[in-house]
Amino acid sequence: MYCPKCRTQYVEKVNECFDCKIPLVEELPEETPFEKIKWVALTPLAGEVYAEMVEEVLHDMSIPHFTKSDWATSAFNISSANLVGAKVTIFVPEEHQDEAAKLIEELLGKK
Ligand SMILES: [Zn+2]
Repeated sequence: MYCPKCRTQYVEKVNECFDCKIPLVEELPEETPFEKIKWVALTPLAGEVYAEMVEEVLHDMSIPHFTKSDWATSAFNISSANLVGAKVTIFVPEEHQDEAAKLIEELLGKK
């Protein structure tokens, strides 16, 4: 038995995921290939520290994501000190956009 959300495998007798509190399934659905996902950009974050915080939360929520910085550091060969204020954009699948945007709002709102 597997959890369809976090993909944890459970022994036969378990019917519900301990973490997600949802019914388990016999077999996992096939994962959507990366290229098939419709990625959308979230509000750019001011700095990599925020981006790392957000990535951690997205990871905990099992939301696929990737980040893109607007600085091509290797190309320009600039030191990290110059990167303060650099914007980092996080991409998530379209179906997770609202959820992710809300998470980020809550995360950054607390500060
Ligand atoms: Zn689960």
